[in-house]
This record gives sequence, C-alpha cells and structure tokens, in this order.
Amino acid sequence: MIPIAKPFFGKEEVKAAKKAILSGWVSQGPKVKEFEERFRSYVGAKYACAVSSCTAALHLALLTVGVKPGNTVVTVSHSFIATANSISHAGAKPIFVDIDPETFNMSATCLEKCLRRQRNVSAILVVHQMGMPCDLKKILAIARKFKLHVIEDAACAIGSQISMNGGRNWERIGKPHGDIACFSFHPRKVLTTGDGGMLTTNNRLYNRRFHLLRHQGMSISDRERHCSKRVIFEGYPVIGYNYRMTDIQGALGVEQLKKIEKIVKKRREIAIAYTKGLEGVDWLKVSEEPAYCKTNWQSYPVRVLKNAPMKRDRLMQRLLDAGIATRRGIMNAHQEKAYSSYASCGSLRSSERARDEVILLPIYYTLKDSQINKVIKEIRNV
Ligand SMILES: *Cc1c(COP(=O)(O)O)cnc(C)c1O
Repeated sequence: MIPIAKPFFGKEEVKAAKKAILSGWVSQGPKVKEFEERFRSYVGAKYACAVSSCTAALHLALLTVGVKPGNTVVTVSHSFIATANSISHAGAKPIFVDIDPETFNMSATCLEKCLRRQRNVSAILVVHQMGMPCDLKKILAIARKFKLHVIEDAACAIGSQISMNGGRNWERIGKPHGDIACFSFHPRKVLTTGDGGMLTTNNRLYNRRFHLLRHQGMSISDRERHCSKRVIFEGYPVIGYNYRMTDIQGALGVEQLKKIEKIVKKRREIAIAYTKGLEGVDWLKVSEEPAYCKTNWQSYPVRVLKNAPMKRDRLMQRLLDAGIATRRGIMNAHQEKAYSSYASCGSLRSSERARDEVILLPIYYTLKDSQINKVIKEIRNV
C-alpha cells in the first residue's frame, strides 16, 4: 500500500526524544527554546514562539492583533476547518471569500470586492494552501489600503519560498510578510513533532504576548523559576491558555529542522516527476506553481476534468484497489454543518469545484521512484 503521506523520522529523532525524556525536563523548556531559535533563524523572522498546534497559534495570533468578540475576519472557506475554527475561538465570525482556481488560494479580486462592502472587519486570515504561497503582494497591498492586519495560516508552508519583487529575491514563508505567520507540525505536514505549532513575527510586543498567553498568562516561566538562585514568584496579569509545546516535541523539531531543506528538495523532485509523467493525460490538470513562488508541495493536487473516463470518486476507488491511497481536494468550511449558516462574500463556486474535482496524490520523502511510476502508470491506464 502506498499511503498518502508519511512522516520522515530517523535515528536522530529517536535519540533526541530519548535524551529529552532522560533529562528530567519534559515540559516546555530548553529544547522548545532551541527549536524556536533555529526556526526563527531558518524562516528569517525576528521572533518565534512554539505552541501546541497551529490552531492554537492562529487563535493567539487573532487575539494579539486585537480581534474581539463580534468582529468579522475575512478568510477562505477552502481550507482545513481549523482556519475557520480559530476565528470562532476568538469569538469572531469568519466571512468566506472564494479562491483562485489555479492556486487554490484566496483570490485578491474577491478579497477587495468583499472589503468594499463588508463592515466591522478586523483582520484578514490568508492560507498558504497545501504549502503553495498565496499572492501576498496583491493581498498585502489591499490590506494596507483598508488598514487591516494580515495573519498567514502557514500550517503547511514550512520551506516554501516567495518573491515579492519578480524573482530577484527569495524569502521563506514565515519571514513574516503579514503581521504574524502560524505553522503546524502535525504528521500530515512537511515537518512534524507529532503535534505542535509555531508563531513567527517581527513585532517584539506581539511575541511577548504569545509567550504570556500560551502559558496561562504567567509572567515568569517554569524554567526561569527553576534556574533562579533566589526565591521568585510569578504573577498572572492576563487570562491565558495552556498552549504549551513539550520539550520532547521541541527535541523532535530541532532534528526535523536540520533535514528540512533535504525534505523540501525531494518533494519538489517528486512533483516534477508527477507533472512529467502525467503530461498528455488530457482529462487531468496538474498544478503549476506561479512565478512568484517555490512551493514545498505539502500536497500534490490534480484536477479531474469533465472529459475524464470516470468520475473522480470512482478513480480514487480504482487507485485504492491498486494499492494507492489518495485524498479528495481540500474541504470547504461553508459546506459543513458547523458553518453552513455563515455568510460568504460573493459566490464560492471555485472553492466548491476544487473540493469536488481535485485528487491529492501520495507525496512524502521516502516515496520511491518505482512507487511514483506505479501511480503514474495506474492513472495513465484508466
Ligand atoms: C493542518 C492545518 C491546520 C491545523 O493545524 P494543527 O496543527 O493540526 O492545529 C490549520 N490550517 C491549515 C491550512 C492546515 O492545513
């Protein structure tokens, strides 16, 4: 069976986790701090704060830019439901705009139309869907015009790059380009710590807020008290959360980050192999990356067109019967019961089509050439 995804762990992660366990310090401590420092430096941000998940990171990001109960946050419906849920956790309401069918990311045109008629919007939450950077240059220009904060849901986008000046300079997602970027380390993502998340920002006060809120609003960390030679007492100036990452996860993250370039390079090679191998299949549309970005191909989506010899779902079953796991396109929050009564800004037709027409093919570091060829052959045989 070829699975859809597989984490890439080696002896290094096993050793690091073991060391963290035997060190006597397993909750948020020195390894989390080291992971933050390495992560910050890798993406090119001034600050990073590790948390328990990307959902937690998004929640803290929204609170930190001042999203309040009753506010509206513009986002896409076409995303894992955590994107919309994080807005609800902040007491605000998501309002959904449609995507660009080429990149599966927020359409800048739809965003601008929405902001012209929507009141009480407090922030924009964009997604770098499946690792593919959204058109930040256009979106940030619109956000400036309407004086709105931009939070990047970069759950899938570790190692992806973007150029804001037509390819002259390349920068990593997480730099950040908006106000705050949020990452996920769930096993379906490109770098994993089992579960986990990270916030990056260039704003010192935001970073202090993240650190305070992730640990029950506590003014002094456990580690500081532990290392102090004098008796010190912590205070609780604000109401916070338990969004801490453990040091075992932090230790995994440090090792995973050492491999990230290698992992992303391999994924980009697999994507090229798929794109080449599926060339000429006239009922299938493969994805292309826009000139402004280099994606990490967290997922490899293909669109099954109208002239296909069989329906999308039957094709998925046929591949499954041949030992190849696939997944349908990204979900839409507005098509789920939890968000079915929520307003959208304009039609969400492109989002709906993407969910119903797309198949995600297996992609992970240890996927062998023979397995890639098998996937290509099975599709070509249809
Ligand atoms: C996976 C994912 C999340 C949630 O990440 P967790 O770490 O599981 O909370 C949020 N947004 C997007 C786009 C995702 O793909």
